[in-house]
Amino acid sequence: MDFDGRVAIVTGASRGIGSAIALALAKSGTAVVVNYASRHSAAGEVAEAVRNAGGRALVYKSDVADPGEAEAMVNAAVAEFGRVDILVNNAGITRDNLILRMKDNEWDEVMAINLKGAFNCTRAAVRHMVKNRYGRIINISSVVGLTGNTGQVNYCAAKAGLIGFSKATAKEVGSRNITVNAVAPGFITTEMTGSLPEKVKANMLAQIPLKRFGSPEDVAGLVAFLASDAAGYITGQTFIVDGGMSCF
Ligand code: NAP
Repeated sequence: MDFDGRVAIVTGASRGIGSAIALALAKSGTAVVVNYASRHSAAGEVAEAVRNAGGRALVYKSDVADPGEAEAMVNAAVAEFGRVDILVNNAGITRDNLILRMKDNEWDEVMAINLKGAFNCTRAAVRHMVKNRYGRIINISSVVGLTGNTGQVNYCAAKAGLIGFSKATAKEVGSRNITVNAVAPGFITTEMTGSLPEKVKANMLAQIPLKRFGSPEDVAGLVAFLASDAAGYITGQTFIVDGGMSCF
């Protein structure tokens, strides 16, 4: 995969899946904007790893839910590296609750970061991609956006929304050589899943044919492929990375 000279923004890259994606892109020579919300030192460590892997890095704090901050991040990427070729909308949160108990703020926060955040960053990045006649946008959805999951009506709705968002954007910008795809991970071992009760984890493991939870690197490999020139004729699609969990 040839990325030489490409510039990527990875949102939520200070840890978990985002940091693995930043590293996977860096290994192919990509300059990476390592976005984060609150953990500056963690983002700095990822940027250091990106540099050690052969990429250039810019650490950038931005709340993707804020349209102004998202636009400022894209402009900072262009100011630092001259262009934006790849956008990975990875930043995401959970605020789990049963629908009868779900608070307005739990619904609103998940929508604002997981769905509107992707819109904010994509709108700002597409302006530059259209001018360059090149772009790769990858939206990190979730398998539960396809299957649903108890206690996650907010999260499942946002992740399902990302799939429709990806398809519609793919149709709008395809003529400018910009591809837009969604990746739907299953259970990946990160902080997001770390606090789940052992009983829930055991139940999930029993449903995974590959008999292990996924690693951030399992997702990052696919994202790096979709971001590469080799994936130039793939757009509007959703790719599941879940060890076979959803094939039952
Ligand atoms: P994680 O370990 O909890 O990391 C979340 C990342 O998002 C952090 O870098 C965090 O930054 C950042 N972030 C949170 N709110 C933000 C905001 N408002 N603006 C910018 N960045 C923000 O999560 P993960 O497990 O790696 O998940 C990454 C993505 O994959 C998410 O979209 C998640 O929904 C999706 N996903 C995960 C799984 C899984 O099993 N883990 C499965 C399916 C889909 P700070 O460190 O600064 O807080």
